Amino acid sequence: MPGYAKPVYFIFLVIATFGVAGGVLAYKRGRSIVLWCLLSMIFPIFLLVIWFQKPIKEVPGGFRQCAGCKEWIGWDAAVCKYCNASQPPA
Ligand SMILES: [Zn+2]
Repeated sequence: MPGYAKPVYFIFLVIATFGVAGGVLAYKRGRSIVLWCLLSMIFPIFLLVIWFQKPIKEVPGGFRQCAGCKEWIGWDAAVCKYCNASQPPA
């Protein structure tokens, strides 16, 4: 039947999307891409876990440490959201 996708393909697509999302979030935090990709595919709740994980190192385009308070802020942030210190350009 044309235009009909088997539900099993849809499930694979959703699982793959969870895995890619987990891998990207892990990459931006300097964490293990493979580990978080697998965890997110098996237990999508780990997407929330990795979302709230602090980075373990600076990743260009991901996160960097505030020059003032050492909290982790977005790579492009001009002002620290914790201490309001202005940041040097990335
Ligand atoms: Zn700060």
